[in-house]
Amino acid sequence: MRDFSTQSARPDVVREELDFDVLFVGGGPSNLAGLWRLLDRIEAHNAVPGARRLEGLTIGLIEKGDDFGDHAFSGAVLDPAALLELCPDYRERGFPAEGFVSTEEVWLFTQRGGLRTPVVPPFLRNHGNPIVSLSKMVRWMAEELGKREVAGVDVMLLPGFAGSKVLWEEGRVVGVQTADKGVNPDGTPKGNFEPGNNLRAKITVFGEGPRGHLARELDEVLGLQADSANPQRYESGAKEIWELPEGRVPDGFVLHSTGWPQGDGESGGSFVYKMAGNRLAVGYVVSLDTADPFADAHLCLQKFKTHPRIAQLLEGGQMVQYGAKALAIGGWHSMPRLAFAGGMLVGDSAQMVNAARLKGIHLGMKGGICAADTILDALVAEDWGEASLGRYATAYLNSWAGLELYRTRNFHQILEHGLTPVAALKLGLSLAFGGWVPGEGLRGPGDAARTATTEAFYGKAGLKPSDMAPGVKFDGKATITKLDDVFASGTTHDEHQPGHLKIVKGDAVCVTCWETKGSPCTVFCPAQVYEMHPDAAGAVSKVAISFSNCVHCKTCDIKCPEGNVVWTPPEGGGGPKYTLC
Ligand SMILES: Cc1cc2nc3c(=O)[nH]c(=O)nc-3n(C[C@H](O)[C@H](O)[C@H](O)COP(=O)(O)OP(=O)(O)OC[C@H]3O[C@@H](n4cnc5c(N)ncnc54)[C@H](O)[C@@H]3O)c2cc1C
Repeated sequence: MRDFSTQSARPDVVREELDFDVLFVGGGPSNLAGLWRLLDRIEAHNAVPGARRLEGLTIGLIEKGDDFGDHAFSGAVLDPAALLELCPDYRERGFPAEGFVSTEEVWLFTQRGGLRTPVVPPFLRNHGNPIVSLSKMVRWMAEELGKREVAGVDVMLLPGFAGSKVLWEEGRVVGVQTADKGVNPDGTPKGNFEPGNNLRAKITVFGEGPRGHLARELDEVLGLQADSANPQRYESGAKEIWELPEGRVPDGFVLHSTGWPQGDGESGGSFVYKMAGNRLAVGYVVSLDTADPFADAHLCLQKFKTHPRIAQLLEGGQMVQYGAKALAIGGWHSMPRLAFAGGMLVGDSAQMVNAARLKGIHLGMKGGICAADTILDALVAEDWGEASLGRYATAYLNSWAGLELYRTRNFHQILEHGLTPVAALKLGLSLAFGGWVPGEGLRGPGDAARTATTEAFYGKAGLKPSDMAPGVKFDGKATITKLDDVFASGTTHDEHQPGHLKIVKGDAVCVTCWETKGSPCTVFCPAQVYEMHPDAAGAVSKVAISFSNCVHCKTCDIKCPEGNVVWTPPEGGGGPKYTLC
């Protein structure tokens, strides 16, 4: 097994051991929902007369962000189905909704105009759903959990701690080791060195979001993807929050589009959501299974904002926050095995996203809920083996969430080359027949493997990003450079630590990639982390990595066509500081 962690290699490091009954890794909506439900279930179980009480339990939840919500990033229009299961009175309990959807537009854009669909396609209908900032929603969930007191249970909410590697014992998961703090770039300890702890747990729930670092390790060791029809698939999304002149956009306004600025054969689209306080979320997602080596969600977003329909909304406004993140879109056919001895996967780490609706929050939360129900039974039975925890998979796949994923199981595959007439026909059939399409089981390789050489895609070998006319003039107002946008994400890392973006196959691989594919990482990274600096003769020897810009989107780990980049967690606390995203 490969070890890409940034842990100190010193053999004399003494790591504190902490024991948990249940440990949640990742403080996103999926795991917070899991913890919420588990506390409810334990309380209800202990209230049943004659039941064997669950007492003296310790349940922990670690989050790599400095605080809950700092790394939470989404669109977002929320389908409240799972939230209603957890907290039917969420509106009365101060849930931070930005508004409720009332006006919906769906467009097929051309550069200057486009076609507005006369009716909103069923999968994009959101009327009445809450519009949220995921970062605010996650903060609210963590605060509500912080107030809970359940007799017999000690709950530890631990932001600022990144899970760095999985702890194993005889092939079963027994917890995680958190990342060291205070390590020099060369791996030697600083004066303030704090070794990561060994958090040992009977059951560990991994909800790391898309392309989890530990989920990768789990897959590598346990082959969780082995029985999936398709590999995991992703989109990369970039979003800006704008403050607009009073009354510019009505409350509850939502717009989705596809088409321009993406070209023929490409898949992706936009979202525009009205938020509270005259704010507007404007975002763009690009499918990472595109063959185009120069696909770039940030650039698509900048172009998208120049479309007359969008420019008129933003006129006179100001961008106040930026963020970017990958999104799991493989759905049903890409889901890994959900449970194994000692652990479970929930949320985007398990591809619980409906790409047709651009929605995963409710599906991930339902994952947390189903996981918690199984954990309760496992704690009662004192059995956290694979068969016991495997009941979670059955429960999830048979729930409304599983059905939703099943009914859209071919959506992305149908549209992976854009909205062609054949794709439109297949889409219609799949909507009419519960997801079925002729040639069902549309299969394909993973995102990285689909990246073409510049010769294959553009008909010209050796093209460089600088050869491509960007088609956007960055004016710092309407159109914003990546570096200015990264500044607006509040991202910081202590630069005096080991780089957390690992080049695992060596610099020579990057050089070949520069020659044949124009180094896609220098383009697709929405935070300009990667740069190639050719010498006077135009030659390069390695890729320059500004890891302190990294917004933890994971696009590089997914899309590097050579599989040469591995994202590892930096010291807990580093990364973006989202408050509105
Ligand atoms: C551009 C975009 C638009 C979207 N729009 C919508 C929408 O409108 N509606 C909708 O429902 N969904 C939307 N989604 C999808 C939705 O955001 C995700 O499905 C959802 O956030 C998944 O929740 P999660 O808890 O599984 O993961 P996440 O929300 O990613 O949370 C995972 C958490 O785990 C932490 N973490 C990761 N690794 C570690 C580690 N090793 N140790 C400790 N902590 C760790 C992360 O910092 C993060 O806080 C969108 C996504 C994107 C990218």
